[in-house]
Amino acid sequence: MILKSIGARLTFWYAAILSVTLLVLGGTAYGLLAYSLSHDLDASLQGVAKMSAEQAGAANGAFLPPDVDELFRHFFGFSPLNRSFEMFDTRGRRNLPQPGSRAGKLPLSPQAFKNALRGLSTFETLERSGPYPFRVLTMPVIKAGRVVNLVQVGISLENVIETRRRFLLIMAGVLPLGLLLATAGGWVLARRALKPVDQMTRAARRISGEDLTERLQETGTDDELDRLAKTLNEMLGRLDDFLGQIRQFSADAAHELQTPLTILKGEIEVALRSPRTPVEYQQVLNSSLEEIERISSLVAGLLLLARADRGVLRLDLRPLDLPELLQEVGEQLRLVAENREVSLNYGVLEPSVIQGDREHFQRLLLNLIDNAIKYTPAGGSVTLSLRCLGQEAQVAITDTGLGLTEEEQAQIFHRFYRAEAARSQSGGGAGLGLSIAQSIAAAHGGKIEVESLPGRGSTFTVSLPGDCQTTPNPAS
Ligand code: ADP
Repeated sequence: MILKSIGARLTFWYAAILSVTLLVLGGTAYGLLAYSLSHDLDASLQGVAKMSAEQAGAANGAFLPPDVDELFRHFFGFSPLNRSFEMFDTRGRRNLPQPGSRAGKLPLSPQAFKNALRGLSTFETLERSGPYPFRVLTMPVIKAGRVVNLVQVGISLENVIETRRRFLLIMAGVLPLGLLLATAGGWVLARRALKPVDQMTRAARRISGEDLTERLQETGTDDELDRLAKTLNEMLGRLDDFLGQIRQFSADAAHELQTPLTILKGEIEVALRSPRTPVEYQQVLNSSLEEIERISSLVAGLLLLARADRGVLRLDLRPLDLPELLQEVGEQLRLVAENREVSLNYGVLEPSVIQGDREHFQRLLLNLIDNAIKYTPAGGSVTLSLRCLGQEAQVAITDTGLGLTEEEQAQIFHRFYRAEAARSQSGGGAGLGLSIAQSIAAAHGGKIEVESLPGRGSTFTVSLPGDCQTTPNPAS
C-alpha cells in the first residue's frame, strides 16, 4: 500500500508504534499480574501450612480443624470455599480427626510424600482435581527434629484464573478502543499540522513564471512551516529580481542593436533613392561598415557574457608578461589619447608573469584604458601601473577624469549601465565594457575594483591571484 499523503503516513506509523507499545505494555502488565497472583497465593498457602504445622507440632501432631478457617482468613483475607486442608501421618494415611477439606479429598503425591519425610515442603499444581486446577502445598510437621505428621494445604486456582481472564478481556476491549481513539486523534493533529503545506502548494501553483509577485502566506509563528514559507518567499523575491534583470537585459540588448540597425537601414535607403557617384557610394559603405562593426562588437560582447555566465568561457592559459601586455595595449590607444588631448603615462611597472588568456586579457585592458581615456576631459592624464605582490598581480588604471559617485560605482559593472555624465558624452559604448572586463577577470579568478571621486578621477584596479613570478616560467 502506498500512502501518498504525509499525514496518512505519519498516522500509520504513529498507530503502528502505538500498537506495538500497547501490546508490549499490556503483555508486561499481564505477566506481572499473573506472577504476582501466583506468588501471593503461594505465600498465603505457605503461611497457612507453616502455622498449622507449628500448631500441630506444639499440640503433639494434632490440629483442630475449626482453626483452619481462621488460618485461611488470616492469610487470604477470607475463607475460600474451594480449599482443602489435610493431615497425613508418616505412612501417608489421613489422620485428621474431622474432615478439614471443603473440596473433596486431594491425593498425596508420592513426590510430595517423599519430600515431606525428608523434611522438605512441596508446591504442586494438580490439574485434574475439579473444574479448576488446585495449588497444593505439602509440608512436614516436625517435633524434636523428627517428622511426626504432614500438613497438606490446597486452594483452587479459580480466582487466579478468573482474574487473569478478566484482565485479558478488559485489555482486549480497552486497547483497540484506545488505539482507535489515539489514531483518530493523531490523524486530526497531522492534518491540522500539515494544513499550511496544502495552502502553500495551492499558492505555489498560482505563481507562474510570468508573474512572480505573489507570495506565500506567512503565519508569523516562526515554526518550521513559517520559516519554509519565508525562505520560499525570499527565493521568489530573488527570482523576481533576476527575471526583472533578464527582461531589462533583453530590452537593453534589443535597444542597443536597434540603433545601429536603424542607422544602417536609413543610410542604405537614402543612398538607393537616387543614383550616386562612386565616392558617395564609398562613403555610405564606409559608414555602414562602421555600424556593422558596432553591431558585431555588441553581439561578440553579448556572446562572451553568455559564455561566462554559463561558465563555458574558453581560456587559453599561457604565461603572460603583464608589463609588456600593458604597454602593448597602452600604445594601441596612444593615438586615441592624443586625439582627445589626454596624456598617457606609465607608473611603476613591476615585472610579473601570470597565467592568462592573452586575447581576453587584452580585451579587458583595452576596455579599461579606453574608458579612462574616454571619460577624461582634454588636458587630463591616464596612468597605467603594475605591482607584483607575490600572491597577486595588480594592474591599476588611474585617470583624472569625470569620476563616479558612490551610487554610480555600485552600478557600473551592471550590463548596459551608463552613468549620467557618460550618457551626455559622445562616443560612449553600450555599457557592456566593464561587465565584460569583470567577467574576464572573474574567469581568471580575479576581480576589478574601483575607487573614484566625482570630478577628480578614478582608479580601476584589476587583481589577479596566483604566484606572479618576475620571470616567465619555462615549464608552463
Ligand atoms: P561604456 O561602453 O559606456 O563605456 P562600460 O561598461 O565600459 O560602458 O562603462 C559603464 C559606465 O561606467 C560608463 O558608461 C561610465 O559611466 C562609467 N565609467 C567607466 N569607466 C569610467 C571612468 N574611467 N571614469 C568615469 N566613468 C567611467
